[in-house]
Amino acid sequence: MIEEAKKEREKAAERSFTYANEVEKVHANLYQKALDNLGKLPEADYYVCSVCGYTCENEPPDRCPVCNAVKKAFFKVD
Ligand SMILES: [Zn+2]
Repeated sequence: MIEEAKKEREKAAERSFTYANEVEKVHANLYQKALDNLGKLPEADYYVCSVCGYTCENEPPDRCPVCNAVKKAFFKVD
């Protein structure tokens, strides 16, 4: 009887240990994912001035601040 109880307790301890391991694995995965995304730029459109190569984000300016080229001189980078 006591032996049985002891075995049950051991099994339960083993189960919770395995569970903790699984949680650790998930945490490790999330952590790795966070690391993978570190340093990556958020999605944005980039426009480059075809005259001087000036690059800007999201919207081209009316006039290039470097060479004064018009908005039409900018092209989108994919
Ligand atoms: Zn320019």
